Amino acid sequence: MLNEGLHFDTLKIRAAYDPAEHRQSVAVPIYQTAAYEFRDTANADGLFALTDPGFLYTRVNNPTVDVLERRVATLDGGSAAIALASGMAAISYTILSLAEGGGRILSSPYLYGGSVDAFQKIFPKFNIHIDKSPNINDIAALERDLKSDTKAIFVESVSNPNGVVADMEALAALAHKHGIPLVVDNTFATPYLLNPIKHGADIVIYSATKTLNGHGNLIAGLVVETGTFPWDNGNFPQFEETQYVLRDRSTGRKRTFLELTPDAPFVTRIRLHYLNYFGAALGPFDAYLALLGIETLSERVTKQVSNAQKVAEWLEKNPHVEWVRYPGLPSSPYHALAKKYLPKGAGAIFSFGFKGTIEQSEAFLNAIELWSYHVNVGDARSLIVNSPKTTHGEQTPEEQRFANIPPNLIRLSLGLEDPADLIADLDQAFKKVFR
Ligand SMILES: *Cc1c(COP(=O)(O)O)cnc(C)c1O
Repeated sequence: MLNEGLHFDTLKIRAAYDPAEHRQSVAVPIYQTAAYEFRDTANADGLFALTDPGFLYTRVNNPTVDVLERRVATLDGGSAAIALASGMAAISYTILSLAEGGGRILSSPYLYGGSVDAFQKIFPKFNIHIDKSPNINDIAALERDLKSDTKAIFVESVSNPNGVVADMEALAALAHKHGIPLVVDNTFATPYLLNPIKHGADIVIYSATKTLNGHGNLIAGLVVETGTFPWDNGNFPQFEETQYVLRDRSTGRKRTFLELTPDAPFVTRIRLHYLNYFGAALGPFDAYLALLGIETLSERVTKQVSNAQKVAEWLEKNPHVEWVRYPGLPSSPYHALAKKYLPKGAGAIFSFGFKGTIEQSEAFLNAIELWSYHVNVGDARSLIVNSPKTTHGEQTPEEQRFANIPPNLIRLSLGLEDPADLIADLDQAFKKVFR
């Protein structure tokens, strides 16, 4: 199903845009070009008024990047997507676009370290404040934390590094009751394991740097939308403003994003405002690499999930392990939610508590041979990292406590190696430390 969908979409796109001689190439062509030749002045007028399909300038759109956008939108059941230069650009442009001019975002303590830092240090300077409700699945408490100027609920579907699974249907119902969208960072789950849109999310964010691409060789992000959120409900006046750039060239009449692109007002607005003016554009070559990575998404994730389950079960029985936080284990408080939302598996990233001193845990990391020690996740290689000192190292000890990141936490991201080899490597490292 997944791959059928992917290739069907690619063929459609290429039939529309590619010169006939390119249509035979198996891989998507890399349009390594800054700009595009307009057919004539009428074509240029139509392109700039967004009434004709086509490409303006690679900062704003590009045929190779366009294939990536359409494929990810298709995989997630969204109406449209926009690809950006990083997952952080996807998050930042989304937050800025939602709370433009000031407002609040309701979120949880369980977020990617970069999101935590940006929410704390940068967004308040733009008069955008992030409220963190301690328990993201306590809907009554969340409702009390909503304020009149809260513009969205923002969660990670499966959180980093603790595997907190968000109850998206309950969160979507709450958000919609208050006329605001549910935004879900679905980086860890990927569209293969979970489609947040099917559970009520309005906007889905990816860091394609991680599992979506899966080869640790690029930085990229995406924003996907449903096209169904009522942006004209009074809470988002920015969507009701008419725009000079959207004017009808013959009459001069200015239009709103909703009028011009009713199926994709959110990503079109990001494209023409934030991407156009702030400029975090994804290059065509990186889009091409991400497209190659996505071709094998289902196979990679299936193996990674199976490896994660085996390693988590082994660790849970290990005497040098204090706890294992993996929603795929029956011991996880999120096991029931994982069964509901992630029936194909609870992802391949989880954490465990090292039983011993910090010095011993560092000796353990230094004794590891097969796993790679770095901060990426979702790679084809298996990765290990001490999150409190690295990915979440910018947080104070109190903030780490609030986010449930104890000093002995070690995060694993399962790759494609043989699970017996991965377990043997952890075992030899434990034995070296506790000899
Ligand atoms: C890595 C990550 C991001 C940021 O993505 P970049 O591509 O590194 O900018 C955002 N959210 C989650 C959950 C991530 O893991």
